[in-house]
Amino acid sequence: MSIELDKEFRIDDKLRKKLNSEKHRLAEFFRKINLVDDKYIEAFIRVPREYFVLPTYVRYAYSDMPCSIRRDATISAISMCLLMCKYAELDIGKTVFEIGTGSGYNAALCAEIVTGGRKEPIEPKPVCSMEIDPVLYEFGRKNLERLNYLNVVDVRLGDGTQGWPEDRFFDAIIVTAAGRIIPEPLKKQLKIGGVLVMPIDLGGYDWQVLVKVKRIAEDKFIERDLEAVRFVPLRGKYGIFK
Ligand code: SAH
Repeated sequence: MSIELDKEFRIDDKLRKKLNSEKHRLAEFFRKINLVDDKYIEAFIRVPREYFVLPTYVRYAYSDMPCSIRRDATISAISMCLLMCKYAELDIGKTVFEIGTGSGYNAALCAEIVTGGRKEPIEPKPVCSMEIDPVLYEFGRKNLERLNYLNVVDVRLGDGTQGWPEDRFFDAIIVTAAGRIIPEPLKKQLKIGGVLVMPIDLGGYDWQVLVKVKRIAEDKFIERDLEAVRFVPLRGKYGIFK
């Protein structure tokens, strides 16, 4: 499979018009079915997904489908990204740690929600995102940089299952790949009242259960199953494979 990570893609006026109208139609649909609160839909409208997908898929950027970025990585469907943000209870002023930067799209969406659309520098950055694959790390970082998100998103290369390398606690942790267990280092980096959302592979099925974990006290966590989902496998120390 050829990877077109560096190719520039020109979006002409005709295509831009088509993308805009599809984006707004999808936003209206999400509103109609009451998928998520308006603040999430407004964030979706602000993030140009066409700059995160591979050039081949630009014209499908606003089809609500997962989109392949490499053999083992996909940007989730738009509705899935929005639901993950809702389940993680994202809101203005909150901090997020995402495991699996991929294209950077979900990190950008999280950034739009927690900053309310501001891109002036914030320290420490409210969104932290980690990617284990060096090629995807470069891809995601470049996409985020081009759209000016690096003021508010800290992207690092490494194994996210081992936690963020600094002493930080997060309001929300979103794992965008499926593992068998909830990595202990991630539970430790949740604030009290914080929420972790992650797909859990039960073994033997081609789908996983999306699980929500809320830390309600120093050593007390409440776990709840949300829905059946399909994500790529989580790698790393606490993942399915190295
Ligand atoms: N959130 C991404 C897509 C996620 S696909 C987006 O919006 O585009 C899942 C990603 O998780 C892949 O890029 C994969 O390389 C990455 N990944 C898998 N295991 C990981 C780990 N242990 N730490 C960090 N990233 C990981």
